[in-house]
Amino acid sequence: MTAEFYDVIILGAGPAGLQAALHAVRRKVSVLVIGKIAQSSAFQTHIENFCCLEGGSGSEMLQLARNKAEASGSVFMEEDVMLLDRDEDVYIVEMESGKQLKTHAMVLAMGVSRNTLGLSGEKGLVGRGVSYCVDCDGPLYRDEPVAIVGGRSAAVSGAMTLRFYTSKIHLICDKLDVGKQLARNLKDSDVIVYEGRKITNIKGDDTVTGVRLDDDTELAVKGLFIELGAKGAVELAGNLGVLLDDTMQYVSVNKKQETNLPGVYAAGDICGPPWQVAKSVGEGCVAGLEVAAYARRRKSRTI
Ligand SMILES: Cc1cc2nc3c(=O)[nH]c(=O)nc-3n(C[C@H](O)[C@H](O)[C@H](O)COP(=O)(O)OP(=O)(O)OC[C@H]3O[C@@H](n4cnc5c(N)ncnc54)[C@H](O)[C@@H]3O)c2cc1C
Repeated sequence: MTAEFYDVIILGAGPAGLQAALHAVRRKVSVLVIGKIAQSSAFQTHIENFCCLEGGSGSEMLQLARNKAEASGSVFMEEDVMLLDRDEDVYIVEMESGKQLKTHAMVLAMGVSRNTLGLSGEKGLVGRGVSYCVDCDGPLYRDEPVAIVGGRSAAVSGAMTLRFYTSKIHLICDKLDVGKQLARNLKDSDVIVYEGRKITNIKGDDTVTGVRLDDDTELAVKGLFIELGAKGAVELAGNLGVLLDDTMQYVSVNKKQETNLPGVYAAGDICGPPWQVAKSVGEGCVAGLEVAAYARRRKSRTI
């Protein structure tokens, strides 16, 4: 079976991948987008903070972007990628159906999945007090008491951001693990820190009303922000030999969204926070233009 070849393959059909497709296909290269819009983090959300929407449904936004990308000539494949491999400068994409695809140029836009606390009730209260995104949901808790979980820079920076909205912030972590400046900012703030503590229970039926800690302390809060980092598609990238950042959680890119591998670009959540649609489409735009330019250069060498 001969593998299908595309000038550009985009992995991911979220805001980053769809925007990359829109820009790449304009440069007269063949573009394949792999992924499902229904698996984008934005699909089930009400989008805030995006300049072009007055709030709005994430699923509608994604469907519109997919329609546009398809109408412009991008091909879509709704399957999961199982493995990425390389034979010199040819990249091989192995699909769950067993199909193999080949390309010289790729955009990795597979997003991330957030680490959860894994407590009962957590899933059901997402969007009703439980949040994984301070930038998205912080403004909803103006002057309300909130808790934030995590001891690394994402959580401590998140606590600092929450101070724009409220002064009643509890930070709960096993161990604080941040640089000197962030540690100083935290110490100088009125954030109450519970180091060496864990949340054992999230209280509330319809909306969050509080949390209980492992020493039985009860905190009455309306919002619980979980900032425990992310996992997910970076394993595929890592296996290919794409360099990750210092945290080993995100793909490392430069201002052109280039990774360390020739012809391999990355955009969106997979490149790290802030996890926002605006950042994802911005990076997708740059990656789409750059990957198409690379594919055209590569093509002109082989003709
Ligand atoms: C609850 C919640 C609320 C949010 N609210 C807001 C908000 O109000 N405003 C805002 O700006 N942002 C918000 N965000 C963040 C926003 O959704 C993300 O920043 C954005 O969707 C990231 O885009 P992306 O394209 O990088 O990844 P995603 O949108 O997550 O898309 C990833 C894509 O990759 C595909 N994929 C993954 N793995 C594979 C694989 N192995 N093979 C093939 N395809 C694969 C998926 O199918 C999907 O199509 C929110 C996120 C969450 C979770």
